[in-house]
Amino acid sequence: MKSLISERARGLRLSKIREIFEIVAKMEDVVRLEIGEPDFDTPANIIQAAKDALDDGYTHYTSSAGILELREAIARKLARENRITVDAATQVAVTTGATSALFLTIQATVNPGEEVLLPDPGWPPYASIVQLTGATPVLYPLLEKEGFRARAHLIEPLITPRTKVLLVNSPSNPTGAVLDREGMEAICELAKKRDLLVISDEVYERIVFDPHVHHSLATLPGMTERAITVNSVSKTYAMTGWRIGFAAGPAEVIAPIPKLQLYANCHPTAAAQKACVAAYDGSESTVQEMVKSYQLRRDYMAKNLNELPGIKCPTPGGAFYLFPNIEGTGMDSMTFAKHLLEKGKVASVPGDGFGPHGQGYIRLCYAQSMEDLEKGVERMGKVTAALAKAGS
Ligand code: PLP
Repeated sequence: MKSLISERARGLRLSKIREIFEIVAKMEDVVRLEIGEPDFDTPANIIQAAKDALDDGYTHYTSSAGILELREAIARKLARENRITVDAATQVAVTTGATSALFLTIQATVNPGEEVLLPDPGWPPYASIVQLTGATPVLYPLLEKEGFRARAHLIEPLITPRTKVLLVNSPSNPTGAVLDREGMEAICELAKKRDLLVISDEVYERIVFDPHVHHSLATLPGMTERAITVNSVSKTYAMTGWRIGFAAGPAEVIAPIPKLQLYANCHPTAAAQKACVAAYDGSESTVQEMVKSYQLRRDYMAKNLNELPGIKCPTPGGAFYLFPNIEGTGMDSMTFAKHLLEKGKVASVPGDGFGPHGQGYIRLCYAQSMEDLEKGVERMGKVTAALAKAGS
């Protein structure tokens, strides 16, 4: 009998993170710091807009580029918040979350055999998305000594004649690092010099803490024709389950995205699209409150983790993750993550699940209640103290 599944499907590897998920599923009373999403519910005005949309008949097919009203709201958002000027009709495609925006943008721009530069450590689906096009992911390092920020001098040696796209993610998942303006300028100069397209994944753009500032890569000189901005409502508005995102950039790159989307999922849900108009055009106060709350929790976690033996925790500038260095415990990432879960009932993600340069770190998401964070710190304290005692 012929194989039932394709080589493509067989080639998709499940991440190491699943090992942790499987252990968590069998346990009780675990402090869940491995989950990567806001703990807030979607703001009430956005939920109301979705209800109104259903009552108003947003139950039919839409354009595969998304409703024009939402593309216009996104164009206004890009002008207001990012200083990016785009034509709503030709330079914005609404997608099923940023995941789909990344998938479709890679499909639209990269040929089999070409190479895509990805951050290491970075969000695990990037590599699989690239592999699904028949292209090769090439990992560029993000180093702790550089504040985990992408550095042009570490990327340049990896460029070959086959390199088509450089993907940049700031603020970063998993490190929370925010790329500085000079670093971004150097990367843009490199992209222009070596004729690369740049995909800028900005899903955490609004979760940035003083004094850090988010700069949209597409606004740097000469980048309008080679930068594609990917974003979504998932993190900013606590809307991970709604599945709305977008890609914005040169009309030539955006044009094939609705065509590709047509054959995958046609378009994102009509009423959810309509609700996102309310999200982008609505009051900013809820977003600001959420960011303030993340900042308090980041400060609490970074301060307390740095007091634990064997743990060094840089204070990240954005997103809702911490990426502490756990080398001082004498364990590798997976061993430590499993030990922490089994002995301390705290779930984390081993850093090497995000790429080889994540070895020696774990990712903790602090978008959890203060009560859980306090419990998590206390439990981590006991586990690391026991390790330190055993090692001395
Ligand atoms: N990009 C990064 C860096 C992420 O961390 C995530 C989700 O965790 C996404 C993209 C996908 O976001 P969405 O929910 O919009 O698909």
